[in-house]
Parts: sequence; structure tokens; C-alpha cells
Amino acid sequence: MELSEADRAIRRFINEQPLYAPFVIRPEGVGGNPPDRPRMPASILRHCQRCDSGSAWVLAFPTNEDRKQNNRFTDEIASYICGHCGKETLTLWFVHEAHEHNERKRPIAWAFTKIGQNPSPQRLMDRDLAEALGGEIAKLYRKGLTSIAHGFGIGAQAYFRRVLEESCNVILEMFAQEAKAAGDLDAETRIRDAMTNRQMDERLKEAARALPSSLRPGNANPLKFLYDHYSRGIHRMEESDCLDAAQRLDWAMTYIFKGWRQQMQEARAFREVISEDPYAEE
Ligand SMILES: [Zn+2]
Repeated sequence: MELSEADRAIRRFINEQPLYAPFVIRPEGVGGNPPDRPRMPASILRHCQRCDSGSAWVLAFPTNEDRKQNNRFTDEIASYICGHCGKETLTLWFVHEAHEHNERKRPIAWAFTKIGQNPSPQRLMDRDLAEALGGEIAKLYRKGLTSIAHGFGIGAQAYFRRVLEESCNVILEMFAQEAKAAGDLDAETRIRDAMTNRQMDERLKEAARALPSSLRPGNANPLKFLYDHYSRGIHRMEESDCLDAAQRLDWAMTYIFKGWRQQMQEARAFREVISEDPYAEE
């Protein structure tokens, strides 16, 4: 069954939304009628730490029987259990309120806010990333993750900007080395030149421009992504925009140190095999 936009949104709320940050959902009404308030779905997809699998989790509370009681507990608590191991659970405490009404004063959008979650919504810092950044920067990074988990957008964005400032040259060095390994010495020189720029945003911008297409998996430029979200600044941004920018910086940095690096290592290994291939035609 195809999930509607609202179905996907409520799943994103359950899996990804930090605490205390309102999450607005606008379901489609059926047949011209105003929509019903979204309910917690009967199942969600989620990664299980315990059995290390991405599996369907089923709603354990409230059951249909519980819902008949129709009290605030059945309406503001939801508990899911991993369908694979049957042991790991996720419990949310949340509130909801009408966020927008139509001209007949019927609600058409709702704001859901998590007020508690067990286990905590805090993402653990990736181990490879922590090692690559080093102890002091990793400490700042974890503070950023704690701020995200508690919905402190401005604080989180400030931490991630600091992390990026402190680790910029570690990141650019990695890209310069990959450019060299790919035989693109011109790109390597340009990235190294960018590293000497005193302006942090200029450093990222120049290095992003110098990044050859061989280092852009799927034609995505990871340095430009970092630049875009770093340079959004924090001064004129709303709390929720800061939260969004911080989450994207976290995602991008984790991706660069895990996914991107791995793809580049595989590409390098592939190039080596090809260059040693005795059957290759000149
Ligand atoms: Zn499990």
C-alpha cells in the first residue's frame, strides 16, 4: 500500500523528531471533507539496535482495546516493539494541538510535540567520525547531538558550526588526498590553496569549487552541502530552521566520514585493479 504524505510525516515524527520541537502535519481530507487528526500508525519501519536489523515495529500501546477507553493516555502515549526480536521497544510521550483551521473552523493541520522518549532520541556519534575528529572536537559534536535531541536548534547549530570550524582542515585534507589518489593534482593543489584561506566560509566555498566530478558520488558535492548549511548562519534564523540546519550538518559530516570515504576507497581499489589488468587494451 502506498503511504500518503501524512503517513510518511507521522513516521518521520516518530523516528526522527527531537523533543520539544513542534512537528506540523497536514493530512489530506477525503472527498472534500476536512481531514481527521493523524493517529499513531499500527506499524513503522525502524532500525533495531538490539538485533541490528531494519524491521517493522508494531504498535503495542495503545491497542484497539486500549483505545476504546479514549483517555489522554491512549491519546498521548505510543509504544512500539521490534517485530524481529520482539524485545526492543520505543515509547513516546507527546501532545498535539490543532495548528490551522479552515474557514468553518474545523482543524486541518495539527502540531505534534514529543515531550518524552525512551530510549532517548539522542543519536550516538559515529565511532569512525569521533576517531577522525579527535577527542576535543568529538566532545563538541556530542554536545551538538544532545542539543538536537532536546530541540535546542540555535544551540545545536552553534555547536555544529564550531565543529566544522575546528575540523575544516581535517575534512579538506581528506579530500585533497583523495584528489591526489585519483591523479587529479590540479584539484589537489586548489583544495590545498583553499585550506590556507583565513575565512572559514571562503575555505569551504573554494574547496567545493575545486572538487572534481570523480569525487562527487551521484554528482553530489559534499563540500558545497557543508558550505551551504554553514553559511546559513544563526543570527537571522528561527529555532526550527537552526534545528534543521544542525541536523543536516550532522548528517553530512557522518556521511562524509562513513559513506563518502568508503565509496572513494572502493573507487580507488577499482582503479588499481583496472590499471594492473593484463588483458586491458592499450
Ligand atoms: Zn529487534
